[in-house]
Amino acid sequence: MTEFVVEADLVIANLGVVRAACGGRDVIAVLKGNGYGLGLLELAHVVAEAGVRQFAVTDPADALRLRGDGLTAQDILILRSTALPEDLAAILDARAIATVGSPGAAAALERAAEDRGLTAEAHVEIDTGMGRYGFLPTQTDAVVAAYRDRPHVRVTGLYTHYARAFEPGGATAAQAAALRGVADRLRAAGVEPGLVHASNSAAVFNHPELDHFDAVRIGSALTGRVSGKATTRLQRVGSLRARVVEVRDLPAGRPIGYGGTFVTRRPTRIAVVPVGYADGFMVEKSRDSYHLLDYARYVWHDTTAWRHGGATYADLGGHPARVLGRVGLNHTVLDVTGLPCAVGDEAVFTVNPLLVPPAIPRRSV
Ligand SMILES: *Cc1c(COP(=O)(O)O)cnc(C)c1O
Repeated sequence: MTEFVVEADLVIANLGVVRAACGGRDVIAVLKGNGYGLGLLELAHVVAEAGVRQFAVTDPADALRLRGDGLTAQDILILRSTALPEDLAAILDARAIATVGSPGAAAALERAAEDRGLTAEAHVEIDTGMGRYGFLPTQTDAVVAAYRDRPHVRVTGLYTHYARAFEPGGATAAQAAALRGVADRLRAAGVEPGLVHASNSAAVFNHPELDHFDAVRIGSALTGRVSGKATTRLQRVGSLRARVVEVRDLPAGRPIGYGGTFVTRRPTRIAVVPVGYADGFMVEKSRDSYHLLDYARYVWHDTTAWRHGGATYADLGGHPARVLGRVGLNHTVLDVTGLPCAVGDEAVFTVNPLLVPPAIPRRSV
């Protein structure tokens, strides 16, 4: 069986690196996208045990999953301003913290909470340059109204999201200044903004000059991967593991894989492992890239690297075993000549967890 193994000690070490980099501020662990591929529940339990008390997800259904798995002590912020009835129902059922990014979202949350006879908790989002959710920084009156005029909504936080933190330059500091301006105008109007937060992983590591406010929202750094140029002490988490299903001896001159791009030059012992593109292997290799951009581009990169002599290795019982030929959708062939290798041995592959389909089971160790 192919599984994705999550090393809990590396996640915890990464959390420590984040905490040190942001001056010990509270870390809101962002668990969207199936916990960045590490597994929503697996990652949540690991960081909860390390003392994280605040989660954030995009999909309200994820908040219900977290609650259903016994994670009841943590705050869960929903990173989506929404007026969809099913979203609001899930948010209220999970006792999650809604995001209010517009007067319409505030009104919808107020109505849904009133209908249930409860008070919803929310953070207000400000659009300082992401252009996705949020009040504009100039909409002070509307923001004050969201805090004050909704009897069934209790606003306990204020935040924004950076659009360009992966690159240097002043755009991120300008976004931070815009958020600070809103917080200052709220206080001047007699409204306490609550928990103010803005920085994501890229902001913490690429922009140490920033004021990181009261808390940071961290996702990719927990997995050891951050967009941008920063050098960090983060360690990459997760590996894809599968067992060798076939071992064969080939003479010299035999092609391996689609296109026959590799031909044995000597008698070669091969091991076949049922791992391939379908499992996220060799879909991308770029160190910094953490976005699902364009599979084809990465595949092209890999093919180019291969043609130029770049080789990829799997780990087989502590030995590097070179990948031979093109990886298939479901199969990879390894060179195990001279290595101890038998059917059933475990091969370990380095893969970006985001690219590993959710159907592949996650296991934290
Ligand atoms: C994804 C996300 C984050 C976390 O970003 P990372 O760079 O992965 O740490 C923080 N805030 C919001 C609103 C997000 O959508």
